[in-house]
Amino acid sequence: RAKSQQRAGHFYFSRSMGVEIRERVRMMHALRTAFGQNQLFVVYQPQIDLVTRRPVGAEALLRWQTPDGKFISPDRFIPIAEYSGLIIDLGEWVLRTACRELVKLRAAGHLDFMMSINVSQVQFRHPYFLDMLRTALEDTGAPPEFVELEITESMAMEEPDLLIKMLGQIKQTGVSIAIDDFGTGFSSLSYLQRLQIDRLKIDRAFVTEITGSARGSSIAEMVIQLGRNLGLAVIAEGVEDERQAQILQNLGCPLAQGFLFARPMNAEALDGWLNNDTLEGAA
Ligand code: C2E
Ligand code: MG
Ligand code: MG
Ligand code: MG
Repeated sequence: RAKSQQRAGHFYFSRSMGVEIRERVRMMHALRTAFGQNQLFVVYQPQIDLVTRRPVGAEALLRWQTPDGKFISPDRFIPIAEYSGLIIDLGEWVLRTACRELVKLRAAGHLDFMMSINVSQVQFRHPYFLDMLRTALEDTGAPPEFVELEITESMAMEEPDLLIKMLGQIKQTGVSIAIDDFGTGFSSLSYLQRLQIDRLKIDRAFVTEITGSARGSSIAEMVIQLGRNLGLAVIAEGVEDERQAQILQNLGCPLAQGFLFARPMNAEALDGWLNNDTLEGAA
């Protein structure tokens, strides 16, 4: 009996694994085709100053819409792009697209505006990453002091010596660095102190927790305090309601991003949103 169960279990396991691998391979091809056929595009989610409620920048986020209109989440296709190596070209394209958008916004008068761009660890470890970054900045004419790269905390914890060296070189180009999804890893204060970073992004999970229980805000509070001690800017992500915004503001969090203020939008909508916001702010 035990034996047949084992066999049954084994059969089930390998079949579902086969399905998963086949699905992954299918998606890998579809993604490559989609990239070649311009089905991928970049949207921008505004980041705001919690006190003035004015925009200070935007995060570039990749989107994939299939010809039948379905959206596939980056949480699903980014790992596949990483696994297949496509992330190298895709990531460069996102960087260049976002840099060009930044230049356009500046030409339209939005001069105090930062563009944040997510960087995958596969991209980051690529031997030509630094060259790619320098060339993209040069070709697009994007001012590096208004470009920020987001790397995740989990990525920051692997191979500390390599990371410290890379960050030093990246900082020389003039761009700044944010640690994304902060609070989900276990970086120590002493380690963070050795990293040339500029900003911590409080992960959405901890923003959601803020209104949940009495101690719900403790991690957000800790990150804000950490930022203050290390002289880093702090931004909260995933702010969905006014209560969360209020609590964050009371805790001294200067910046935020989330559906409460704006959803990610395409470049054209961002232009409109920024102009409206400026008018409202001036009124
Ligand atoms: P992330 O960098 O932490 O991006 C924030 C995610 O939270 C985005 O999801 C955004 O749409 C979502 N979000 C923003 N505000 C709210 C809110 O108020 N409520 C909720 N529920 N969600 C909110 P998205 O666009 O699906 O991206 C998911 C992840 O995919 C990103 O997480 C990032 O890790 C990755 N990603 C997206 N674009 C790129 C890219 O161009 N390159 C790389 N390497 N990764 C990317
Ligand atoms: Mg991000
Ligand atoms: Mg994030
Ligand atoms: Mg996140």
